[in-house]
Amino acid sequence: MRDGQVFSTRLNHVVTTEREFDELVTKSLPELLDRATGQTKRFLRETNQWDDDITHEKLALRWGYELVERFVVFGRTEVPCRPFFLLDSLIAKSFSQPDPLCYHKELLTPVGRFLDGLASRAVVSRDALIALFYHFYGFSQAHVVKLLGFGQAESQRVYKNFERWRQTGWQRTMNETGLSGSDIASLEEQLRSKPDHLNHEVERLMPILQSHYRKSEPEHYPCLSEQKWGQLFQDDYGHDYRVWHLALCRDCFMEVADRRQTEVGGKSKPQVNLHIHPLKKGGVLALFGGDRGGRHHGSPRTQRLSRTSA
Ligand SMILES: [Zn+2]
Ligand SMILES: [Zn+2]
Repeated sequence: MRDGQVFSTRLNHVVTTEREFDELVTKSLPELLDRATGQTKRFLRETNQWDDDITHEKLALRWGYELVERFVVFGRTEVPCRPFFLLDSLIAKSFSQPDPLCYHKELLTPVGRFLDGLASRAVVSRDALIALFYHFYGFSQAHVVKLLGFGQAESQRVYKNFERWRQTGWQRTMNETGLSGSDIASLEEQLRSKPDHLNHEVERLMPILQSHYRKSEPEHYPCLSEQKWGQLFQDDYGHDYRVWHLALCRDCFMEVADRRQTEVGGKSKPQVNLHIHPLKKGGVLALFGGDRGGRHHGSPRTQRLSRTSA
């Protein structure tokens, strides 16, 4: 595109005021993102961390986004500068740090790794994405479909291969996190003995985690105003955005879930309600006390959700 070329040229030239910097950066975000993503790929290739697949594409994309975000804040303080030149040096500097791809140290705890594993899988797998509603909030298929405002056809499309998540997807994701069976058992135990404590921790980590992974899909990154959300449901558009953004943004999830309480059939305000293992088929086992494997803590919250889904 001609506009793009104009910006590229300008990004190679000196910007002299903060205002000029802000204006140019706002208009040329796609090119900056493109450049940062490209350099991230190169870094991954050079350090033998690259594979030609969607997982790595998304990884490069969200790191590109992270880097541009830092550049936008930092660049203003470096005026006068040549934006592309400054971006390149910021990227080179970031990648020369130890652990350049660790975006948050707090996520290195068992619960952090559990959540991180789920979210990182969710950006490349629809099954995992849709499962987040259950793992974060205890929402079963029936709830999710009502929350998203989907009809039967759409619901079937989204949940088409969901059985895979129960059968293999969840376990595969856990293997990727490096959590052992006993780590997972100990998380379950914490959830049983101190559910509020663990749920508060999840709540605290969610914004860090979600903001990072939302960057894997830049178009679906931004939050909408309450009014915009209302419009989107009323005029029935943005289905992919709904699934993606609500699964990966607690604030919008809470707002939409609260607003759609009548549709969803919840009796109290939605809240974070961690679940470690996937929901068993049908999602009603917990209600009848059939889940004796210790997988469910059976808190009043779980029971309430199970009852409404039955
Ligand atoms: Zn949001
Ligand atoms: Zn549970």
